[in-house]
Amino acid sequence: MLTGKKGLILGVANDKSIAWGVAQACHREGAELGFSYLGEALERRVRPLAESVDASLLAPLDVADDAQIDAFFDRVKQQWGTLDFVVHSIAFANKEALKAPFRMTTRDDFHLALDISAYSLIAVAQRAAPLMNAGGSIVTMSYLGSVRAVPNYNVMGVAKAALEASVRYLASDLGGDNIRVNAVSAGPIRTLAASAVGDFRHLMAKSARGAMLKRNVTQLEVGNMTAFLLSDLASGISGEVHYVDAGFHVGAGDPGENPA
Ligand code: NAD
Repeated sequence: MLTGKKGLILGVANDKSIAWGVAQACHREGAELGFSYLGEALERRVRPLAESVDASLLAPLDVADDAQIDAFFDRVKQQWGTLDFVVHSIAFANKEALKAPFRMTTRDDFHLALDISAYSLIAVAQRAAPLMNAGGSIVTMSYLGSVRAVPNYNVMGVAKAALEASVRYLASDLGGDNIRVNAVSAGPIRTLAASAVGDFRHLMAKSARGAMLKRNVTQLEVGNMTAFLLSDLASGISGEVHYVDAGFHVGAGDPGENPA
């Protein structure tokens, strides 16, 4: 599906990361991949993973820092020249903000979550787009907390709502350049970022019980959908949020807790 395409995978922290499921699917489908890492500690984890899928680019990227985003894309331009796709799989919120009642969200917590988890997609898209000469595809990762008040998801739900709105505006903005922008809304998966969400084990159990398929999804299932959206097979799809949640969001919820 992706033979002959070059793309960036932003947001691998370790082999549990959703971005790693995406990378495995994209590698299997024939893409040439480049990776980012946040800080030296994570470089030690990401480098062997990147090497295992023959990555041709690996560079630091902290999306809180415009100079680093510029340097990252300068490097992409120098090394690759052009680009076919970008996977944005990055989010961050203060852990305390995901435990305290939502009404206690501070201005700083709000800024941080929205900056790293939503604005970063815009910052990445504006630098990636000029390198996507022959059209391209951008995919980001969202969650149901954008459209429903999921317990403990709090300010991250607000950030995901902003992220999904940004997908629509970017899709509108870049559509004339034949660049597609989509989000994948994944069901809960145990990762480093997920561990910041209070009572995540309970959320996973509830999601499995309420899902059409009576289970949770895997990183690779999210990766497979993402690889499809990055491919030419999805050439008519843009501005959408695609759920990979074993059917949870179309159901009535957790039958264990809502017997009606
Ligand atoms: P993860 O911890 O493996 O990945 C999060 C990534 O964000 C990490 O690689 C981290 O280094 C990166 N990151 C954080 N701050 C950054 C910064 N300032 N600059 C650059 N990178 C930064 O966890 P994950 O669950 O794979 O998260 C990936 C995406 O999937 C996130 O957007 C998350 O909200 C979303 N998501 C996760 C779930 C889930 O249940 N795990 C469900 C739906 C959506």
